[in-house]
Amino acid sequence: MNISNAQAALKKYFGYDTFRPMQADIVQSIYDRRDCLVLMPTGGGKSICYQIPAVTTEGVTVVVSPLISLMKDQVEALKANGIAAAFMNSSQSYSESQVIENQLFENKIKLIYVSPEKAVSQSFLPILKNLNISLIAIDEAHCISAWGHDFRPEYAQLGFLKQQMPHIPIIALTATADKLTRKDIIEKLNLNDPSVFISSFDRPNLSLEVRPGQKRMEQILAFIKSRPQQVGIIYCLSRRSTEEVAVKLLSNNIKAAAYHAQMSPRERSKVQEDFQNDKVQVVCATVAFGMGIDKSNVRWVIHYNLPKNIESYYQEIGRSGRDGAPAETVLFYSFADVNAYREMFGQLESSNQEIQNAKLDRMLQYADAQICRRRILLNYFSENHTENCGNCDICNAPPQYIDGTILTQMALSAVARTQEQVNMSLLVDILRGSSKYEVIERGYDKIKTYGVGRNVPITEWQSYVWQIIQLGYLEIAYEDKHKLKMTPSAKEVLFNGQKVQLFKPLSIKERQEIEKKAKEQKAKTEAATPRLRIKNQLFDYLREFRRLLAIEKGMPPYIIFSDATLGEMAASVPRNEYEMRQISGIGEQKWQQYGQDFLDKIETFLSQNPDFIESGAVMQKVEPKQLEKTDLIEKAAEKVLQKPPKAPQESKVPTQTVTYNLFKTGLSIEEIAEQRFLSPTTIQSHLVQLYEAGEPIDVFQFVSLADIQEITEGVAFLPEPLKLKELHEFFSERFTYGQLKFALAYQEKNKTVA
Ligand code: ADP
Ligand code: ZN
Repeated sequence: MNISNAQAALKKYFGYDTFRPMQADIVQSIYDRRDCLVLMPTGGGKSICYQIPAVTTEGVTVVVSPLISLMKDQVEALKANGIAAAFMNSSQSYSESQVIENQLFENKIKLIYVSPEKAVSQSFLPILKNLNISLIAIDEAHCISAWGHDFRPEYAQLGFLKQQMPHIPIIALTATADKLTRKDIIEKLNLNDPSVFISSFDRPNLSLEVRPGQKRMEQILAFIKSRPQQVGIIYCLSRRSTEEVAVKLLSNNIKAAAYHAQMSPRERSKVQEDFQNDKVQVVCATVAFGMGIDKSNVRWVIHYNLPKNIESYYQEIGRSGRDGAPAETVLFYSFADVNAYREMFGQLESSNQEIQNAKLDRMLQYADAQICRRRILLNYFSENHTENCGNCDICNAPPQYIDGTILTQMALSAVARTQEQVNMSLLVDILRGSSKYEVIERGYDKIKTYGVGRNVPITEWQSYVWQIIQLGYLEIAYEDKHKLKMTPSAKEVLFNGQKVQLFKPLSIKERQEIEKKAKEQKAKTEAATPRLRIKNQLFDYLREFRRLLAIEKGMPPYIIFSDATLGEMAASVPRNEYEMRQISGIGEQKWQQYGQDFLDKIETFLSQNPDFIESGAVMQKVEPKQLEKTDLIEKAAEKVLQKPPKAPQESKVPTQTVTYNLFKTGLSIEEIAEQRFLSPTTIQSHLVQLYEAGEPIDVFQFVSLADIQEITEGVAFLPEPLKLKELHEFFSERFTYGQLKFALAYQEKNKTVA
């Protein structure tokens, strides 16, 4: 195999023209049958690294992936691209896994996803040993390490793979970069002199913004309302705030849901699924919400509270914009969060306490930073970038510095006059001349600095005091009720005329003003450039079409086309097959399945908006060009690729199986009916059919043995052929139709057995 085969497959299956940095090298390394370890940020494009070798080489690729919920989506997405994939895990019945096993041995599957439990099970070993395996991929490989944050015991056993099958290359992938974890992965998986690939952690499509935490809710509502179609995640520190924020959003007509670890697994997977399908716009979640989501069109992430370290923060914001289209991130931060963490860490044993506090310090430095935030982040991950990013709040509105000497003197003097007995909020109260009980009671209204700073708004004071701490003139005694203490350098400012430079924080109003101006500017540019206008309108139009199509097909919208693909479509307005196939993300299968539908939709849109053509923003339709380029790629691909087995069209899972899977999770008939938008009667008949087909369903859950006997006797009174309606009436509607059916099925079955 060589890399041009890989290139052709990338276009054919995924519709992408080029590999991202490193992807090609990784693929080559697998072609060379070397083990490798891949570190890439979330959304960096790890999956392609093993999916391309999987479809271009002979045999089957085994992918170990930790989450059952994720597996289904991954397989769905591959199938939508025309790649034969399947998964095996504990959620399946014996007969289901049997079917897949058969397909495996008939070489009908190119990628098989398995849970770690399955991978290490006794039942899987003979399958492994007898299959023609081309590659083993271990996703989320950091789960193997106790150093990492997601340790999973079953992962620890995966080392047997290399021992049992030393000649099959293993690729381990993770988004966690730290050195100890890396070492652990290599050792525990017994990787043999692996090539290690560490890609840039930069995610330039994510904008970065930090805002002070005052009036968070108000700011969040305004943010979401000005982005009506976009889905996002709000990360909160506590279960309580996830619920409070969700309720607040709901009462403002925003489709929101809370998600936290105390919810039942069923409740959680419901939220997760609704979010995947764009039925819920906003999930308010604790950090528990994470690994299980593989949704590419999350357009923003808000941190309601400060994260406790940069690793978590980066991973959480990384869940937005995975499709590469622009996404926004906003971090709210307040001193209360910092204090809460310090107290929390105080409970830890001392060495751990030190580490956690040091990590929190780095997080604070980031939040307080007055230089390009992306540079700080990337520096943290040992990447030095010398250019400012132009996509963070600091780059967009560089801070204004003021002479803060007098302000600093006021604050320091107040601290001195209160004998260093006040914390930050009390200090601000004193400076602002507040008549709060605590101030008066302790006699602070009598000191000379009382009220000297009343002309400075409270939020500004909070920022100044924090800056004074950061500059090292004051420090917080965490062990003594967070009281502020002077450092030796305070004297320099108070008595020796040292100058202090502070920056003026933006008020919420000023921020809103900036945002408003930017919006107006955008609208103006848009009005002046029809091309931009059509891009936005057509995007909304196609997105709505995608949503409806997704409901019809019963799959998440982003599996049809990603936001990035849709955005490119709206920007380039393809009018024929050739143009459509040029768009990134439209491979062979996607073109076949949806290409023409979307072309038709674009034509409908244009006929409804003739001004776009009249204004020249969109070209007149031209006859399709010869499909030279695509043709060539196709031919090249056909020649060199072994023709992959034809993927099963669509998801042809029988409707009874869908019901059965839900039933096995413990849902009642009514609940299944609600979830599937079907009637309970239909669900009941599914279960009867399943029971008739031999699935181990407990009939007595629905109808007792005595009832069955009574019903059977009743049948004898009725003429043949038996009509269910008559039986129903015979018992004066005492039994439901479902019970009657179950009883008859039971009787039939036991008759046959006898
Ligand atoms: P990860 O597993 O690293 O979080 P994914 O493999 O899910 O990331 O990839 C993130 C997104 O980037 C997906 O939508 C994927 O299709 C897309 N992608 C990956 N490689 C490329 C590429 N070479 N060109 C364009 N898009 C790509
Ligand atoms: Zn920047």
